[in-house]
Amino acid sequence: MSGPDLTARLVRHIRAHGPMTIASYMAMALHDPQSGYYARRQPLGAAGDFVTAPEISQIFGEVVGLSCADFWRNISRPDPVVLAELGPGLGTLMADFLRAAAVVPGFREAARLVLIDASPVLREEQRQRLGAFDPFWAGGFDEVPDGPLLLVANEFLDALPIRQLVRGRRQWRELLVAADASGGLCLSEGPESPAVTLLVPPQRREAPPGAIVEICPAASTLAAALAERLTRQPGAALFVDYGYAGSAPGATLAAIDGHRAVGVLDRPGTADLSAHVDFTAFAAAARAGGAAVHGPVTQRDFLTALGAETRLEVLLRKASPAQRGLLETGLRRLIDPQEMGTLFKAVAVTSPGLPAPAGFTG
Ligand code: SAH
Repeated sequence: MSGPDLTARLVRHIRAHGPMTIASYMAMALHDPQSGYYARRQPLGAAGDFVTAPEISQIFGEVVGLSCADFWRNISRPDPVVLAELGPGLGTLMADFLRAAAVVPGFREAARLVLIDASPVLREEQRQRLGAFDPFWAGGFDEVPDGPLLLVANEFLDALPIRQLVRGRRQWRELLVAADASGGLCLSEGPESPAVTLLVPPQRREAPPGAIVEICPAASTLAAALAERLTRQPGAALFVDYGYAGSAPGATLAAIDGHRAVGVLDRPGTADLSAHVDFTAFAAAARAGGAAVHGPVTQRDFLTALGAETRLEVLLRKASPAQRGLLETGLRRLIDPQEMGTLFKAVAVTSPGLPAPAGFTG
């Protein structure tokens, strides 16, 4: 049940139903119940395919937790409050979050922990890490229980399926996944059509022929559902991810296997697939649904505003020499512009009329 097996099934599917969107390909490659990447693998850490901010430094989850608990205090401490995380991975962010937020009286007692994760392998990791907080695993955002809401998501949006659209001579076309004569997968261009042009955000439609635009319908749908909820019930949602705002970089979909880049069609189910997040489109969808949007700001500005460096000083005082080095290099990786500091960005979606969460007020 490795990559080749899934490739053969994808080819059979395409021969029966025609070329599929890249989004459909991504959904199958990542989430097919038998052979999908997240169905079978533990992708995180040195032995996996990628390393995320909470795995690099405990300070990440700690300052996010303090900022959320502070927001909770500012909205008059609703009890209960739903504390939800999308794509918690190994549960590290939330463990650091809850430990730090314990300094805010009443917060932990009020928080009802809700986790949303497609991966059975990672849900088991989360159970081990966060079981003491009695989490409820929801099948999707639409299953998150009602009530005031705090939501966090780090490196979740980049895993959502994207579609790639190419500017043709007059209209736009869609890049599709097709089957080649030798039983492999290949990219093919669908026909130029006004219907495809309408999928391109208006401000990007006049790009030159050959330009590629990525759209992420699942991210826009999530933003709209979140906004709808936040107009009815008070709350805030924080998203941190790598991506862009304003001008678009073209094709960003990439496949990683064992920390190395491979072709996006080479190893479905074995390689991780992700794309840069279009924060402008995400923010627009949330605003269109009636929510307020703060940011995006760079991860560097966000963590600095949340006092990450002060937190580092405090931790260094109690640390052994070996721990000191790890703490210092960890935070540097997160905020250095040459590393994750500016590629990664944070955006907050809140109920309209609420004060901006800490980290977005500068
Ligand atoms: N937030 C964690 C993990 C990031 S990896 C961290 O920062 O370390 C992406 C996470 O999102 C994984 O836990 C994966 O299982 C989950 N995920 C990816 N696509 C998903 C989807 N469509 N629905 C729910 N969870 C998903």
